[in-house]
Amino acid sequence: MSDDQQQVECGEHGATPPTFICQHLQHGEGLGFNQGYDPEQPDAAYPDAWCDQCDAVLEQEGEWNARAEAFAGIRLVCAGCYCQIRARNWRQDEEALDGLIADSFDYLQAQQDSFMTTFRVGEHERWDWYQESGQLVFSDGGKPVVACAVDFVGTFSSHSDTWMWAWANESFLAPVKARSQEVRELGEALNYLKLACAIWPADPVDGWEMTAVMARQLGAIGAYRAPSEQGFLYMVVREAHWVN
Ligand SMILES: [Zn+2]
Ligand SMILES: [Zn+2]
Repeated sequence: MSDDQQQVECGEHGATPPTFICQHLQHGEGLGFNQGYDPEQPDAAYPDAWCDQCDAVLEQEGEWNARAEAFAGIRLVCAGCYCQIRARNWRQDEEALDGLIADSFDYLQAQQDSFMTTFRVGEHERWDWYQESGQLVFSDGGKPVVACAVDFVGTFSSHSDTWMWAWANESFLAPVKARSQEVRELGEALNYLKLACAIWPADPVDGWEMTAVMARQLGAIGAYRAPSEQGFLYMVVREAHWVN
């Protein structure tokens, strides 16, 4: 998102990027939330969206023609309103999602205990991460002691109280964010909002939940949370070794 991009002004959410939804979603509830896919912006944070009824019309018509567009009555809303509307209309199996998160926590907890002990994580003087090489390095006395291959999961912002997946973050390079797409694909397949959507209202615990899900999905050996300017950066560890 560039600074000169147009913003919309919302009485409740202030200035945010403009988003587009069908007229039914705006005041509806549980109507289904179908997201458009723009090949030019495959990682767009707020893809155009429409309800299940609109989706049925679209399927009938085969394309967004005059009839489908008239039925949808697409309108502009602010990104904050978009998130509220999405949460209200998205349908998912909550119990199955809770189960996935619980299983993922069990997996990560077991891995994390061994990772922390084996590499004495938490006892080193400093850490640095390098996007180009996808490495997290712990050092003591100015010398690297433990090197980890990492994948970024995403970031929690305490400024906006939101979670953002690494794949949607333009400030991250491909080597560290590419594998977060695997969780997105899982989320799209199972229709879980938090796994499939780039940005949503969150707290730091959500960050650990998403980190656990990604750790289990990728078979990670541990995870790490680094403080950032406005919150936390979460990553999972693929491999680690002592540096001689
Ligand atoms: Zn609709
Ligand atoms: Zn708004």
